[in-house]
Amino acid sequence: MATPATERETTTAPDTDPRFEVSLRGIDVDSETRCAHWDDPVDVVALRFGCCETYYPCDACHDAAADHEAVPWPRDRFDEPAVLCGACRTTLTARTYLDSDDTCPACGAAFNPGCRKHRDRYFEVEGSDDGDDGDNL
Ligand SMILES: [Zn+2]
Ligand SMILES: [Zn+2]
Ligand SMILES: [Zn+2]
Repeated sequence: MATPATERETTTAPDTDPRFEVSLRGIDVDSETRCAHWDDPVDVVALRFGCCETYYPCDACHDAAADHEAVPWPRDRFDEPAVLCGACRTTLTARTYLDSDDTCPACGAAFNPGCRKHRDRYFEVEGSDDGDDGDNL
């Protein structure tokens, strides 16, 4: 199942990417789950969404590939796998990822620390403060 690292594919619903063991979709996804939107060396995580239980490299990929609104991973399922490390293909629970200090606990790959800023798009967070629940324009 070796895939050239340079190979990129765009997958659209309902197909999922055969390179990954989990259901994963996105736009221009590379073999470490970078995508058309996030293409830095550290952008190697894919996140699972509560709405369709499918992994996407980012929420823009979700919106492009899915026909419904993204729902963050629910808080009562934080002990289930919800993050894929694209570097080693290990799935992490939401809790493990959020506690990981932006480093994969399995392979040591650095994750993008900037993801913290918008983690509420991917994880249902407690006390997300400002009452803004997604209807922003
Ligand atoms: Zn979805
Ligand atoms: Zn993307
Ligand atoms: Zn890893």
